[in-house]
Amino acid sequence: METKKKDIRALTKDQLRDFFVSQGDKAFRGNQVYEWLWSKSVHTFEDMTNISKETRQMLEDNFVINHIQVDTLQRSSDGTVKNAVKLHDGLVVESVLIPTSTRTTACVSSQVGCSLDCKFCATARLKRMRNLNPDEIYDQVVAIDRESRLYNDRPLSNIVFMGMGEPLMNYNNVLKAIDKITSPEGLGMSPKRIVVSTSGVPKMIKKMADDEVKFKLAVSLHSAIDEVRTSIMPFNATFPLSDLREALEYWYAKTKNRITYEYVVWKGINDKRKDVDALVKFCKFAPSKVNLIEYNPIDDGEFQQANTEAIDMYQNVLEANNITVTVRRSRGKDIDAACGQLANKSK
Ligand code: SF4
Repeated sequence: METKKKDIRALTKDQLRDFFVSQGDKAFRGNQVYEWLWSKSVHTFEDMTNISKETRQMLEDNFVINHIQVDTLQRSSDGTVKNAVKLHDGLVVESVLIPTSTRTTACVSSQVGCSLDCKFCATARLKRMRNLNPDEIYDQVVAIDRESRLYNDRPLSNIVFMGMGEPLMNYNNVLKAIDKITSPEGLGMSPKRIVVSTSGVPKMIKKMADDEVKFKLAVSLHSAIDEVRTSIMPFNATFPLSDLREALEYWYAKTKNRITYEYVVWKGINDKRKDVDALVKFCKFAPSKVNLIEYNPIDDGEFQQANTEAIDMYQNVLEANNITVTVRRSRGKDIDAACGQLANKSK
């Protein structure tokens, strides 16, 4: 009976070292192979040129290297690139490269589909099929880094976990991927350049604070009024704003890190003065930044971007209350790569 080979990248460096010792080889062979797998990101054992032929064959007999494949690549007229990425089991997720004059940002996915059901989001329609493994998250970043060097002549500078999926519902794997991304044996990126964006899972925000993570936190808030938030993000009924706020207070007390809120203003949903007043009240307990994001319709017309007056009102009231605010233009709309639009349409 044929036994299924293990994915070698599921092993830690220590496990790899132990494996070589168990085969009668030196532990440092594990370090060499680890480097090929992560900092050099090779796709085959054949490419590990400083490893003997016999050892490569032994690895081939015992393991597979499950690599993602960029199945389709689309480039927007504004330079944004969207990858449809095929996983080893044939499922597809998307990731996006967003270049600006000062930075190049990768927006990566953490789940196939999503555990949550935000009404305005295309990914929510896919439902959650499975969590991504750490290597599948890492590979998306490597692919985008290569594209950034190719198309923009510079390496990737920032990462946001804002693609498909709720990263805190796949917390352990996201953390392992970030460990690899930030380690010198991986991409050596500073954790300060990584933002994990959550729709707000209180228990996990507290866990992040307890784990003393070094990356930044962003919360997709969209409303600071429970009825409104529940109508657009139904899981808010389970995790109401009072719980979210308590978790964020805990986060701030422990980390002293500013909290960023992602916020879309929709016509007729959250575009009134009472909405912005509630937002001010919600985020005043800690230094905060609000990103007002332009909305990208996802074909059913239920959600529409609010008019300029409403956006101006938000901006003025927030600034008057000493809350930093930015208005973020959406990118890659022509290839459905903008926020909330990732739904494997390129397939
Ligand atoms: S907005 Fe984020 S958390 Fe909400 S359904 Fe979409 S992918 Fe999931």
